[in-house]
Amino acid sequence: MASTLSQKPDTLQRRGLMLIMSSPSGAGKTTVSRMLLEHDGHIRMSVSVTTRPPRPGEVDGKDYYFVGQAEFDRMVEDGAFLEWAFVFGHCYGTPKAEVKAGLRQGHDFLFDIDWQGTQQLYQKLETDVVRVFLLPPSIGELRRRLTSRGTDSAEVIAGRMARAQAEISHWDGYDYVVVNDDIDTCFAKVTQILAAERMRRARQTGLIGFVRELMHPVP
Ligand code: 5GP
Repeated sequence: MASTLSQKPDTLQRRGLMLIMSSPSGAGKTTVSRMLLEHDGHIRMSVSVTTRPPRPGEVDGKDYYFVGQAEFDRMVEDGAFLEWAFVFGHCYGTPKAEVKAGLRQGHDFLFDIDWQGTQQLYQKLETDVVRVFLLPPSIGELRRRLTSRGTDSAEVIAGRMARAQAEISHWDGYDYVVVNDDIDTCFAKVTQILAAERMRRARQTGLIGFVRELMHPVP
């Protein structure tokens, strides 16, 4: 029998979310991010602005917007950033305009930002933010992943380990923690988090009319 409701449940029309994925380097964040962007048509990367010079292979406008210090400072003054931070000797910031408009249109954004940026975004946009932290399965495995290039000195490796451990100390500022023992399992878990967060009532703006009609059907 056909429904007498004129409204259909619109689970697509909803407010977007901001998925922040942080981890120490060597915990698989880059791979999981790439898998998400490949497999999920509703999430896009938020491209940051940085004063760091491009590394070989990095593309302006795709990996980062590369700018000089004067331009970065001007953008800070103009209020063009949702957040910005000084990380390992360079400035990094999240441009505001695209994200704010995208969230209203129902787009989700993936952020690769550090713990300082995560705190700032949470303070500003708490209800839009979903914070996920990836951990390596063991200290031995982390060391193995950080030494796998084989060409670095013991000192360089020790520096990387210390930096990774400093980043891990910020794990308590996140909503979800996923141990990356196996990349496919880790990806599946992040996908489940995303699916659940998309169903939060406050985000499902498209359901309001439908639910009203369920409660008060037109005779
Ligand atoms: P890299 O220079 O290796 O690409 O990034 C260095 C660090 O800066 C990483 O921890 C990365 O997550 C962080 N980062 C990249 N973009 C932003 C940003 O817009 N804001 C903040 N706070 N951190 C960022």
